[in-house]
Amino acid sequence: MDFRDSPEEAAFRTELRSWLAGELPPDWRDRQPHVGRWDFAAARQWTRKLFDAGYAGLTWPREFGGKGLPPTYQAIYLEEMARVDAPDHVGVIGLGMAGPTIIAHGTPEQKAIHLRGILSGETIFCQGFSEPGSGSDLASLRTRAVRDGDDYVVTGQKIWTTQAQFANWLFALVRTDATVKPQAGISFLLIDMTSPGVTVRPILSASGDHELNEVFLDDVRVPVANRIGAEGEGWGIAKFLLENERGGTGYAPQLLADLDRLVAAASPLGALLADRATRLRLEAEALEMTELRTLLEIEQGQPPAPRSLAVKLIASEIRQGIEALAVDAFGLAGLQLPTERPFHADDAPPLVGPPEAGLAAARYLNARAWSIFGGTSEIQLNLIARAAPAAP
Ligand SMILES: Cc1cc2nc3c(=O)[nH]c(=O)nc-3n(C[C@H](O)[C@H](O)[C@H](O)COP(=O)(O)OP(=O)(O)OC[C@H]3O[C@@H](n4cnc5c(N)ncnc54)[C@H](O)[C@@H]3O)c2cc1C
Repeated sequence: MDFRDSPEEAAFRTELRSWLAGELPPDWRDRQPHVGRWDFAAARQWTRKLFDAGYAGLTWPREFGGKGLPPTYQAIYLEEMARVDAPDHVGVIGLGMAGPTIIAHGTPEQKAIHLRGILSGETIFCQGFSEPGSGSDLASLRTRAVRDGDDYVVTGQKIWTTQAQFANWLFALVRTDATVKPQAGISFLLIDMTSPGVTVRPILSASGDHELNEVFLDDVRVPVANRIGAEGEGWGIAKFLLENERGGTGYAPQLLADLDRLVAAASPLGALLADRATRLRLEAEALEMTELRTLLEIEQGQPPAPRSLAVKLIASEIRQGIEALAVDAFGLAGLQLPTERPFHADDAPPLVGPPEAGLAAARYLNARAWSIFGGTSEIQLNLIARAAPAAP
């Protein structure tokens, strides 16, 4: 397999690199330390710039505002963004999950309402799948939707809803029939977050960051026209969407860039830490090769799974390895959370060490989530085992 850029890909890379050099605000790093502690308005402005320059939705079909490019261009985009640590598009849930699902299964009206806004960052989607008691066993979900004329009346609770505090739309799995087998009674709805009866409550993570929320739905009226697919066919739509969430490629460039930045900031590393850094680099490079191979296979029309499932699993392990290395490498400075965190002692000594050290503890704690979101590592292993060919 030839992983080198074609002349067209090389031209795209050069153009993007020079665009980033000219457009990335010089102070953006101070405003975007990491997910959960970002300046959302600034992130949205940056998204608008990406959109105006044509870098949002590279792989989306042209008729829906995308560029219709093969996935290798998305890989180049991610590599170049990671190289300068540029913030990504603000609406990754819309771009990577809601958008492709609406393109594949939505009505013409749903496409007209949502797709452009997702690309430009005006429309932020959040994902209402998990519920208290229904995570890995998603089909047991209990949020119910009862038909009333041209509406559904939706009642229930969603949890761990990323970005719900910013979102104007929620895509949700709801139970429309409790008398059939669990998967067959589920429908897929698009819910306007400004509807009466929608309440968002923050969940602070161990680092004190606000990324996650609970979403309460109390007699929320949702037009039947906001259903994607037929009633009772939501499980099939969710499976399509989860292929986008669980699979995925494009983790390695950010992992490699973050590891390089860590090694530069924490050097000189002692022998044991240098050994860990080298191992992580080798693993991330191997992951990069696997991601590129998966992309080329997708381009040739082959299904991404199960290799793409393994990619997320391995990426989670490398991410956690990098953040653990950072905490160890920065010593005491790497153990402190930024002072404004809720449980941080007022009289804590000031941080010592480079600015990266001040983020290490929060990033370490947040990285624990990698082996949980988008399907836990145990569930990924189950899926890989099921999909892998039986041993001879
Ligand atoms: C940072 C973050 C962001 C998230 N964002 C969203 C979001 O935006 N929208 C959304 O809907 N959800 C979101 N989630 C929720 C996430 O999808 C669930 O947490 C995840 O699916 C696990 O479900 P659970 O928490 O109920 O754990 P459980 O399913 O109760 O699992 C508990 C433990 O049991 C293990 N386990 C369960 N079943 C099996 C099995 N069959 N075989 C082996 N082991 C098993 C699990 O691996 C896990 O270790 C997010 C989670 C996190 C951490």
